[in-house]
Amino acid sequence: MRSPWPTAHLACNPRPHLVYWQKSGEGVQVSRMIEFRDVSVSYPNDIQALRDVNLRIEKGEFVFIVGPTGTGKSTLLKLTYREEKPTKGKVIVGGQDVTRLRGSAVPRLRRSIGVVFQDFRLLPQKTAWENVAFALYVTGASRREIETRTPQVLDLVGLLDRADAYPHQLSGGEQQRVSISRALVNDPPILLADEPTGNLDPDTSWDIVQLLARINVRGTTIVVASHDQHIVDRMGKRVIALDRGTIARDEAKGRYYELANP
Ligand code: ADP
Repeated sequence: MRSPWPTAHLACNPRPHLVYWQKSGEGVQVSRMIEFRDVSVSYPNDIQALRDVNLRIEKGEFVFIVGPTGTGKSTLLKLTYREEKPTKGKVIVGGQDVTRLRGSAVPRLRRSIGVVFQDFRLLPQKTAWENVAFALYVTGASRREIETRTPQVLDLVGLLDRADAYPHQLSGGEQQRVSISRALVNDPPILLADEPTGNLDPDTSWDIVQLLARINVRGTTIVVASHDQHIVDRMGKRVIALDRGTIARDEAKGRYYELANP
């Protein structure tokens, strides 16, 4: 039976720094959420998107991936949820080498990782409620689970009162909130966000990042690819800076640009 949302993986975990990761019906406890070992990605057009990337992200971290367009940020996120495979190296998520996952095991990985995009990717013919409920429905949730959990996640993002609105009736910030609530519907230990504020004005962007920070405080590991210097600097979180596919900097409490005289 499913555990109640939203803090199931914390509530049943006697050691909160470790997450209980379901694997083939058995539990494995891991504190390292994401690890890249010597990862390179070459695309067919001979573009090397990532080169020998090594990184580790622990449970509960909030990490920004920064760098100019085309530097490999999206590719790094896609490797994590197995949208891409590396040409070389290993990507380990929740203790599992996801580069070696069978295709049939990928849906289980994807239920462990919520993903949010710049363009929201909501279903335009469905209301906010239906967008979230549908994400649960496709994972095989029962009607009762859907009716219980959909309002919980909409409430978490502050949108329960707009549950019956269609995407075109919502502001950009509200649409992004729906997309975040949909990403959280399976209570994933990891939330990835690819330029989540790219289409939003500065105040709304700040609200969205604050929402991600609140979700992080509840125990979800968060990785955000971002161009938004103001937000990255104001948040003061770990910053991994990419430069043409390699890690140029990895700093706790980092900034968008390297300080000339830190
Ligand atoms: P970023 O997110 O930092 O903008 P990307 O990871 O999207 O960077 O892209 C890195 C490089 O790989 C870019 O040069 C981009 O054009 C190229 N690239 C990304 N995806 C593909 C793809 N599916 N096929 C070919 N080239 C790609």
